[in-house]
Amino acid sequence: MLQEKEVHAAEMERSFIAIKPDGVQRGLIAEIISRFERKGFKLVAIKIVIPTKDFAQKHYHDLKERPFFNGLCDFLSSGPVVAMVWEGEGVIKYGRKLIGATDPQKSEPGTIRGDLAVVVGRNIIHGSDGPETAKDEINLWFKPEELTNYSSNAEKWIYGLN
Ligand code: GDP
Ligand code: MG
Repeated sequence: MLQEKEVHAAEMERSFIAIKPDGVQRGLIAEIISRFERKGFKLVAIKIVIPTKDFAQKHYHDLKERPFFNGLCDFLSSGPVVAMVWEGEGVIKYGRKLIGATDPQKSEPGTIRGDLAVVVGRNIIHGSDGPETAKDEINLWFKPEELTNYSSNAEKWIYGLN
């Protein structure tokens, strides 16, 4: 039988979350990080980078047929991006909930895009949309040695483990 701790470890997942150039320029880094942190998710990697256009095209490769693809990649590479990996139970799906709908006009109040953004082309944050994309995006943005493994004292209070 699995011990409670092993079950807990099996449920942990990681998501790639990025504050786009508009979020950085608008001074929303701390606000956005704070929403993930207060929820109880754990920051395991972070850096600030200006991606090249080629890199932006790799990141958004699944959208290359869309009419806004070129503008989107120009925008992502137009300034610093805060690239992060957040860890926690359900962080991929729930991270998307914290972020809100792609179009801020449709994002619920209380979500990051709902509270802090107005138009789809400037929606301030990216979050992986599933386990496969999370893995691919983490590998694209981070080297394995940039990802930390640590336990925090808060975890036993967040997850109720001894
Ligand atoms: P996300 O996963 O919620 O970020 O949405 P998508 O993966 O569908 O799209 C990636 C990004 O492309 C979005 O966050 C927007 O910045 C941008 N985007 C999506 N749809 C549109 C659109 O219709 N027009 C424009 N200008 N940008 C869009
Ligand atoms: Mg997406």
